[in-house]
Amino acid sequence: MTTSEVMAYISDVTQGNLDRKCYLERLMVRMREQNTKMELFSKLHEKPQGKSEGALAGLPISVKDNICVKGFPTRAGSKILREYHPPFDATVVSRIRDAGGAFVGTTNMDEFGFGTFSTNCAYGLPKNPFDTNRSCGGSSGGAAGATAILKNHIAIAESTGGSISCPAAFCGVVGFTPTYGRVSRFGLIDYANSLDKIGVMTRSVEDLRIILPIISGRDPNDMTSQVQPPLDSTEKEIRKIGIPKELIGNITDKKILETFWQAIDKMRQEGVDAEEVSIPTLEYSIPAYYILACAEASTNLAKFCGMRYGLEGQHFDSMYNNFFTEVRSSAFGQEAKRRIMLGTFARMAGYRDQYYMKALRIRRKMIEEFERAFKGIALLASPTMPLLPPRFDEIEDMSPATVYALDFLTVPPNLAGLPHISMPMGYANDLPMGIHLIAPHWEEGRLLSAGRIWERKMEYRFPMDLEGFS
Ligand code: GLN
Repeated sequence: MTTSEVMAYISDVTQGNLDRKCYLERLMVRMREQNTKMELFSKLHEKPQGKSEGALAGLPISVKDNICVKGFPTRAGSKILREYHPPFDATVVSRIRDAGGAFVGTTNMDEFGFGTFSTNCAYGLPKNPFDTNRSCGGSSGGAAGATAILKNHIAIAESTGGSISCPAAFCGVVGFTPTYGRVSRFGLIDYANSLDKIGVMTRSVEDLRIILPIISGRDPNDMTSQVQPPLDSTEKEIRKIGIPKELIGNITDKKILETFWQAIDKMRQEGVDAEEVSIPTLEYSIPAYYILACAEASTNLAKFCGMRYGLEGQHFDSMYNNFFTEVRSSAFGQEAKRRIMLGTFARMAGYRDQYYMKALRIRRKMIEEFERAFKGIALLASPTMPLLPPRFDEIEDMSPATVYALDFLTVPPNLAGLPHISMPMGYANDLPMGIHLIAPHWEEGRLLSAGRIWERKMEYRFPMDLEGFS
């Protein structure tokens, strides 16, 4: 078993070989310097604490800006939450504190998670550490960028339809999304409740084994968190992986396809068989996802009305509708408005059966098809994203529908609530690409085993190694 740098750091802290406070102070100075240009953090903590005991003793932990941290601005990348300081910690945050982790700051994201490039963010534009003219991916762009530049650190992120995998692939780090219901959503600012999952980004699969048991488990505060089989990270044999032809057949980037097939060959050398499989409903994942996600988002955002949550309206003498419209018009970004309209339309009487109910049926069918596909194979595999991290000027020329369509590889496991992982699979023009593995419900252990096999074959590159050693 390899010892990761994170494990070595934690053991230095617990054994008293490292002055945790000095380390964190120095690290914060470096992070502040970097953040002025990289804008990966929405806000950095003044004095991170952490403890000298516990499974995460003194380890710097960042948290995506939509996960509540008591007393610290938690704004989900939105202007409408500019003044919000949560009066409580999200369950994941309190578990991390109990385990001794040092919360260092919140990471930038697309407003409420709406996006694929972290360009819809009110608190900065996170830059890809591999090339600052390019996107970190979204919506957890800041979390992925931070993981790519920080050596001893773990990022807590969240995915609704690929927001962990996409930025992990673009920033060359490991992104892990657990089974829906494995990690409590209590204290997460909702995007779409039936899809949202809290997960993590690390620099190695080994680091996942430290953090996942800490954040997992049933939480009485979250009705959708589940009584669950324990997270089993013992080594498992991975005999065969399936490659869905509906996913691979829609990728046009030659370099990504070529690197993916090379990766499959490397897995074969390790005794893992691979075969093509078919999951026909995958063709409909994008429309089904955007209808369901927007429908839920549009109801979730209704509470930010200028009176109940978020920024308060000032003009009490205005007409009823104008009062609510004023705050929402000025404080929601363009993409949030687009999704409110899309979602409201999809839920409207008269259209409900045609869109919303149909999307629910597709989701159900997709889950059944996934279950069938997993008979005889351990995991499904594809590249994580169909393109290399794009430049910001290229993104400006993309229509919203073009951007939505780019999620076709990452949306399916999210729709079905299946655990998945993205790991760096290679580099083209010095930019990272990701490989995506999907497991059946509650079979996170298979992802960790396959990840370990993969990491025997692949050396990851990181553009920067910020740390607090002098
Ligand atoms: N790109 C997807 C969307 O915009 C996924 C975002 C997410 O997982 N939060 O909805």
